[in-house]
Amino acid sequence: MYEKVRKYNKKILENNELLIIAGPCAVEEESRILRIAQFLKSLGVKYLRAGAYKPRTSPYTFQGLGPKGLEILRNVKMKTGIKIVSEIMDASQLEFYEDVDIIQVGARNMQNFSLLKALGKTNKTILLKRGFGATIDEWLYACEYLLNEGNDNVILCERGIKTFETQTRNTLDISSVPIVKGISKIPVIVDPSHSAGRSDIIIPLARAAVAVGADGLLIEMHEEPNKALSDKEETIDFKQFETLLYEIREIHDVVKKITLS
Ligand code: PEP
Ligand code: MN
Repeated sequence: MYEKVRKYNKKILENNELLIIAGPCAVEEESRILRIAQFLKSLGVKYLRAGAYKPRTSPYTFQGLGPKGLEILRNVKMKTGIKIVSEIMDASQLEFYEDVDIIQVGARNMQNFSLLKALGKTNKTILLKRGFGATIDEWLYACEYLLNEGNDNVILCERGIKTFETQTRNTLDISSVPIVKGISKIPVIVDPSHSAGRSDIIIPLARAAVAVGADGLLIEMHEEPNKALSDKEETIDFKQFETLLYEIREIHDVVKKITLS
């Protein structure tokens, strides 16, 4: 069994505050990332996420800027004070992640055990996404790999699973949130963007995630979604993001008021 996941007792999120992580799918030119970071900061969002290394289904689509992308994120962090989140694809890239506040392990790497072991040896906060073909137990076993190596700075992220449904890119398994919360105190956030694969249902899915008890959200947003270099179909714009934030904060206040445990 995943004993360390079960017995997890660290409180890594600030008291009852939603963890909101947002930004474009991929790191783009610095001036754009800077404007997005400034916008997020103006709304009280503390984490900017953008991918420097992108795991793409097709080798012919934009693969990310690599180390240059991480340098852009570092510069934007220095200029704005925003914290940064970015996905790692291989343990050999770790040297570039020193200034990254939260390292994301994407769905495709959830069971990359050598990567998990290497990240488990660091004290970085790791955001472990659920594999799109992984059961909740498999996801929690993957998390146990991180904990086993001594790193207890972990956050889980539900991002949808593959089903027969074709209207969405994946099916958001909203039930995993209360199930995992019934097993462990590890924070669980939800990524409605990669779940849905379409921008028009991100806001209602985000509302549902907070209502079901998620500790936060990961949202793909961009100042001009139709010009985004990656995942534009699921990316919301600034105005939609502002609406989302307002609505989920209202819902979160209600959830805090009515839940006793
Ligand atoms: C991402 O977060 O940009 C990503 C590729 O997501 P996932 O690993 O959930 O598919
Ligand atoms: Mn994406």
